[in-house]
Amino acid sequence: MSARTPGPRSRAEYRRAQRSLVGGVDSPVRAFTAVGGTPVVFARGRGPYLWDVDGRRYLDLVGSWGAALLGHAAPAVVRAANRAARHGLSFGAPSPYETDLAERIRHAVPGVERLRFVNSGTEAVMSAVRVARGFTGRAKVLKFDGGYHGHSDGLLARAGSGVATQSLADSAGVPASIVAETLVAPYNDLEAVRRTFEAHPESVAAVVVEPIAANMNLVLPAPGFLEGLSRLCRAHGALLIADEVITGFRLRRGAIYTKLGARADLVTFGKVIGGGLPIGAYGGRAEVMEVLAPLGPVYQAGTLSGNPVVMAAGIATLDALGPEVYRRLERNADALVGRWARAARDLGVERFQLSRVGSMIGVFFGPSPPRSYTEAGQVERPRYRRFFHAMLEAGVYLPPSPLETTFLSAAMAPRDLDEAVEAGARALRTVG
Ligand SMILES: *Cc1c(COP(=O)(O)O)cnc(C)c1O
Repeated sequence: MSARTPGPRSRAEYRRAQRSLVGGVDSPVRAFTAVGGTPVVFARGRGPYLWDVDGRRYLDLVGSWGAALLGHAAPAVVRAANRAARHGLSFGAPSPYETDLAERIRHAVPGVERLRFVNSGTEAVMSAVRVARGFTGRAKVLKFDGGYHGHSDGLLARAGSGVATQSLADSAGVPASIVAETLVAPYNDLEAVRRTFEAHPESVAAVVVEPIAANMNLVLPAPGFLEGLSRLCRAHGALLIADEVITGFRLRRGAIYTKLGARADLVTFGKVIGGGLPIGAYGGRAEVMEVLAPLGPVYQAGTLSGNPVVMAAGIATLDALGPEVYRRLERNADALVGRWARAARDLGVERFQLSRVGSMIGVFFGPSPPRSYTEAGQVERPRYRRFFHAMLEAGVYLPPSPLETTFLSAAMAPRDLDEAVEAGARALRTVG
């Protein structure tokens, strides 16, 4: 599909990978199924850049799916992880590192009185759902169409981007009996939520929601949606789980649901709080979280959970996140969106929608910015494909899927912004 990218070494590495790794990847979206062509294989990263195995440099607008908020190999984070590693990689026993990171999260998120660390966002949401079920004594969980909460069985129903681009409405290997406990409503549709509650009285343990939906392109909550959701949960005795695996500490120091009028009982984190290493966390009121063993009857454990290296990287990351970092991210993202939009207008490119929240950008080729998964489904895939490959040729790495979110890092300098704008303006000429 693309002429020059990737280079010969990337191609050879990807061929080699396919002989050992399923599909050559450890996570499906990396295989470029949604955009066609051969994945770029990367050798290293620094600041806002990645270099592939052919030595070619890319401005990275994926940032490990949002995890690399400070950019790649941020010196303070690498130093902290190195320092911790010299004293042991994992104890499988308590260490002060865990409490240090937990205190930072607790102080930044008012609703979190107790939390627990795990090793991925998937584990965090899966465990939060288990806590909600243990606390309420109910079985059902309500999620939204196109909401992604990791790949645990019960949450893989209608789960957005990665699953959607593989054209799987669901996943094989998930028993119908498990998905039967999952209820699905359209995002931004309070009336549907109300009807669902009424159809399943006293059986919904939790509603799990991305306060800003970032796995079906970028979909903002309609005014009143999250407030209404909080109200309905309360009225029906269900817990509200805010899945902030993407949004937590990316948009502000803490969670975003508190700023959007929601009252969540449990909140999940991942991505940014590990500074680029594998992590997840979930927390909430002490009364709720204390159903967990060793205090309560809900079991959840992890051999490597809270290990010092990840905790140290997370602490160093959070310690770098002052208001000026978020202001810079906001300024850069706002400028990028404004200049891309102007380029599109000048070129007469139609049905090109940009949405933005902080440093998260939705690049959407379609009739209007999506408000639900159904609307996200109207994306004009061939146009995104052309845009993606033109950007890749120009050395800008975008998400290899039209339904993912684009992320800026705090490491971007003004010249990087110019580079992204100019590449975008050239790429827009090719999309039709
Ligand atoms: C990425 C993501 C997850 C899953 O996290 P992993 O670390 O990939 O398991 C869960 N929820 C949301 C909202 C996410 O974006």
